[in-house]
Amino acid sequence: MSTTIVSQAERDYVNSTPRSRALYEDACEVMPGGTTRTTVYFSPYPLYVERGDGCRIWDADGTERIDFIGNYSAMILGHAHPAVVAAVSEQIRRGSAFAAANPYEVELAKELCNRIQAMDQVRFTNCGTEATMYAMRLARAATGRTKLARFEGGYHGTHDYAEVSTKPVPLDRAGPPRQPAAVPDSIGTPAVALAETVVLPYNDAEGTEQILRMHGSELAAVIVEPVLGAGGAIPAEPEFLRHLRRVTSDLGILLIFDEVISFRIARGGAQKYFGVEPDLTTLGKVIGGGLPVAAFGGRADIMALLDPRREANLPQGGTYNGHPLGMVAGLATLRGLVPDVYRDLSAKGDEVRRRLTRAFAEYGVAAQVTGIASLFNIHFTATPVRDHRSMRTGDVSRLRELFLGLLNRGILLAPRGMGALSTPMGEQEIDHLIDAVDDVVREHRDAWTG
Ligand code: PMP
Repeated sequence: MSTTIVSQAERDYVNSTPRSRALYEDACEVMPGGTTRTTVYFSPYPLYVERGDGCRIWDADGTERIDFIGNYSAMILGHAHPAVVAAVSEQIRRGSAFAAANPYEVELAKELCNRIQAMDQVRFTNCGTEATMYAMRLARAATGRTKLARFEGGYHGTHDYAEVSTKPVPLDRAGPPRQPAAVPDSIGTPAVALAETVVLPYNDAEGTEQILRMHGSELAAVIVEPVLGAGGAIPAEPEFLRHLRRVTSDLGILLIFDEVISFRIARGGAQKYFGVEPDLTTLGKVIGGGLPVAAFGGRADIMALLDPRREANLPQGGTYNGHPLGMVAGLATLRGLVPDVYRDLSAKGDEVRRRLTRAFAEYGVAAQVTGIASLFNIHFTATPVRDHRSMRTGDVSRLRELFLGLLNRGILLAPRGMGALSTPMGEQEIDHLIDAVDDVVREHRDAWTG
């Protein structure tokens, strides 16, 4: 393999993961970069995981780790939760998918509409990418306008109109902070996606209003994560969200909350937490209980455009939409998510953020720990992190050392420093995380305080 090993942490990783390395070498023959999910790739090669149980996972070499990312926040009850295993096992014996509607999709739809005040009706998809794609298309259909506004650093999946200014590179070509330019995230993004996208500054109510007023009559929707997830676990400031709601209503622009990640913070999602109601909501991750399920929904008058009984409608095909296995897994998961569970997860999240902050401060290492409820993200910067530009002041090489250092000490986080707690985690797991972080920081103290 041609990868150059540059640090002790990499050397330790390579020495302890020979099966992952062998799988990677095989995989590279048949999959670009040896993976089918860019998100899980990191150099020198990704970790190959074979199984999980509760908040623990085992890699291809049989090494056990505590899973502090839970498939990027999806696995809120942990892996192989007995209720989910039972529901899926029972359902698969009854056949897995049919060319017909099914009773389980009705049940999960009711559960979601019951939890989310602003969701009168819902439709299921297989992933968050599809959910945001349909929500955007629906907004265009409902308003007759074509442009969409989104926030710099927001992440809405990987379709053409989502792949704009998620992580603009290089940042110095992304325009002034208050007038961010539309920058493609991918090669192959069509020029029309850039021309039809207006980029806004997160957590900047006035800057956002100025731009929205400039484009008002052309904009179908603003899509926003009430908590930036992939963009650094950065919660919206409540007044920013309230202001955004007022301005969009005033201009006749639909407001889409992308709650694919943030739905996990409260029973009714971040919209309940912040007390701000969007017109449309997209969901994913936890609602499928570990299976590929996502959804979009909202106001009945807008969702009505999907009704096949209408002559002109927005058709939503999908061989696996409302997949019975995903529906029963989602239902089993949501049934486990009662108010006490949210309280407990949030208390643990507060503890993790507090103890991590203290651990960095003790060694004099400049760091911010962002997040809310059960989400957290470490940023190596002295600058308070509240939007994409401040997030980008973080030192990514330190983050990489921390990520690999933790991996070598039995902890899996996202390489970008994000974590998501799950219900099986207790004090023992939190202590393990804090001790491991302490150990890595101590090792790098001299370099990281210079
Ligand atoms: N929106 C948000 C807020 C997300 O975090 C993600 C995925 N992390 C998506 C959309 C896309 O979801 P998926 O990966 O299921 O396509």
